[in-house]
Amino acid sequence: MKKNRSGKILLSFLALAVTIFALSGVKLSAGSFRTGDRPLVICIDPGHGGDDEGAIYKHGGAEIMEKDLNLIIAEALRSELLKYENVTVVMTREDDVKVEPQERADIAYASDADVFISVHINANPDKPSRGCMIMCNVSHYQAPGAKTPDNYMVSSRLGGFLLDYLIEKGLLVSDDMDEYGGFEGIVRRPYSEDGGASKEELYDDGSVADYYYQLRFTAKYGIPAVIIEHAYLSSDEDYEAYLSSADKLAELGVADALAIAETYNLKLIEE
Ligand SMILES: [Zn+2]
Repeated sequence: MKKNRSGKILLSFLALAVTIFALSGVKLSAGSFRTGDRPLVICIDPGHGGDDEGAIYKHGGAEIMEKDLNLIIAEALRSELLKYENVTVVMTREDDVKVEPQERADIAYASDADVFISVHINANPDKPSRGCMIMCNVSHYQAPGAKTPDNYMVSSRLGGFLLDYLIEKGLLVSDDMDEYGGFEGIVRRPYSEDGGASKEELYDDGSVADYYYQLRFTAKYGIPAVIIEHAYLSSDEDYEAYLSSADKLAELGVADALAIAETYNLKLIEE
């Protein structure tokens, strides 16, 4: 009886070991960051909206608001992603409405999203910065029920491909890497209260949380995330090259989609 029981325990251990091995296999095989045949659920988060305009700069006599450009990029990103097999897209807003930070993460969670893509445009009032940067998860925290075996790695891989495709479009890497504490276009910023206070916010594993709420709130739901800062609205050069028409903005959304498709090994739907 006793012997039999320990045999069962041994079998359980073996099953667990096999499961762990299988999971690490998923982790190592590029692109397979989901389980089964369930569609990949991508939550696109067009930054700002409503009375939160984001950056505002005058170009050609008109006031251009970041919130409007983000929505155009996000809509192009959605259309492009829907050309791939087995993909579902959820948006945190489709109109010019204000959506609270927590609500954005709640929409992703309620939709069972596998990944959260926050769409933004940068600005620097102090110097004529140009280029793109991607904010990736700062912590290796894996919330209970995390969507992938390694959300930090998924965020990083996404960040790398997003940069690749934006740079391929001609964008520079942001001039502000030092100010953001980033490196080669990737920013991982640990939580601190604005104003430089030393207060910390920690995840349940004791690691310092993400500074950016888009990354922090989704990390608590176990969803890997990135923030894409596409170009600088404060730069006449960036504006003219990448932001000054719906077509140019849509091209940024297409670049984002190609990067996501590469990260997840998505296959185009055959015509
Ligand atoms: Zn923004």
